[in-house]
Amino acid sequence: MWTRDQAGSGLLEKTNTPTFRANISEGRKIMAESKKDMLVMWLRDAYSMEKQAIDMLQSHAGRLENYPELKARTEQHLGQTRVQADRVQDCLSRLGADTSTIKELTARFTAGVQAVMGTTAGDEVVKNAMGDYTFEHFEISSYRCLIATAEEVGEPEIARILGQNLREEEEQAAWLADHLPQVTRQYLQKLEAAGGDTSSAKR
Ligand code: MG
Ligand code: FE
Repeated sequence: MWTRDQAGSGLLEKTNTPTFRANISEGRKIMAESKKDMLVMWLRDAYSMEKQAIDMLQSHAGRLENYPELKARTEQHLGQTRVQADRVQDCLSRLGADTSTIKELTARFTAGVQAVMGTTAGDEVVKNAMGDYTFEHFEISSYRCLIATAEEVGEPEIARILGQNLREEEEQAAWLADHLPQVTRQYLQKLEAAGGDTSSAKR
């Protein structure tokens, strides 16, 4: 860096040397590369997030027996999620990158959510719906950051593709917001009807 003294004693001469100009353009190139590196890293995180979502939705939908509407919606979003993972992979290949790096961020996040919610026996339908709702917001925040990054890097097509994923996550979050109270009431009513036996109420 230039100090005030250096700037006062011949800055113009110094900045006009080939070495200085090369350093400036090299610096810009490194900046651009590191922005793009962040985009690639975060896309890989998003890919592992969607893979985790597939496992989670598959497990949740597969266990539901007495909540047909929630089951159907979860299966529908499972189908969307598989397409979302493909879209993220498509974004990575547009950047000449792959999905080889395995990130643990999402696994830690999911484990954290589960730890906070607890694992009380017999209320899994409510806890899973809460977890799914939370996960959708994790996905929403990831895509918002990714879209801003893609725009910053000058990749509007990637921003557009990720915008499709973002809309689907927002729709799923909105559906869950609407239906969480209903699912909870259904659970409580089934529980009461079964005289406190959770076996049919819980899923
Ligand atoms: Mg998703
Ligand atoms: Fe989702």
